[in-house]
Amino acid sequence: MDAEAIARHLGAADIDIEVVAETGSTNADLLARAAGLRRPLLRVALHQSAGRGRAGRSWLSAPGAALTFSLAWHFAGPLRELAGLPLAVGVAIADALGALDVPVQLKWPNDVLRDGAKLAGVLIETQAAPGGGVWAVIGIGLNLLMPDDIEQRIGRSVAAAPWLAQMDRNALMAHLLAALAASLGQFAQGGFAPFCARWNRLHAYQGVPVAILDNGATLHEGVAAGVDDGARLLLDTAAGRIAIVAGDVSLRAREA
Ligand code: ATP
Repeated sequence: MDAEAIARHLGAADIDIEVVAETGSTNADLLARAAGLRRPLLRVALHQSAGRGRAGRSWLSAPGAALTFSLAWHFAGPLRELAGLPLAVGVAIADALGALDVPVQLKWPNDVLRDGAKLAGVLIETQAAPGGGVWAVIGIGLNLLMPDDIEQRIGRSVAAAPWLAQMDRNALMAHLLAALAASLGQFAQGGFAPFCARWNRLHAYQGVPVAILDNGATLHEGVAAGVDDGARLLLDTAAGRIAIVAGDVSLRAREA
């Protein structure tokens, strides 16, 4: 992969692009540099040796088998306006993959699933911007191929997209970047609300009994009923409908 080829496919010049052979975590790299950025910056790593998930979890990938990148994007508003951003990014990625004939679904709050298994993860980390507003670093790991040893280390069934692995990687990256940039612009204007109906159409667990876990402990049980326009998960419990804010909680399907 190379930055110039991605830029050529993108056809727009307002995002800086860099490609590195290997780094620990593209999110960590961009967070360390966010204070000095003037424009959005995409950093692609051919290999990430210390990819991150939420709450200190790790994201594993093998060289050449995944697309791993982060995009630093400035938002003028306060941090609280970014609560729905991981979900909006999920919609952007899902639509971009759907356009490439890879249909996917979304799992609240931040995963892209294929046939029920995780195909891509989204990790957003933020930092106050020196001139006001917030830098959001949007990290995405997309499995193209899933080598057996990586799947074993992850320890659960995961998805891949061999069809996309055959595509020109620079073109694939540009396609995802264009979709992301358009959605981030829309999110900056209207927040999560314009994404809500699309998220619900892509919801993998609609009507499914689920548990909400915090560090393995069950916080809530109920039937998943989609999200509201504040990106909260609606859960129909024995005590009525509740709305759950994405923190570090995880969702799991339960036996009906
Ligand atoms: P969960 O998926 O358990 O609800 P989560 O969505 O918060 O949690 P993340 O923190 O986003 O998960 O991602 C980290 C988790 O994803 C890891 O704990 C591991 O289970 C899984 N994982 C790690 N690498 C991959 C990968 N390449 N593909 C799919 N899943 C992965």
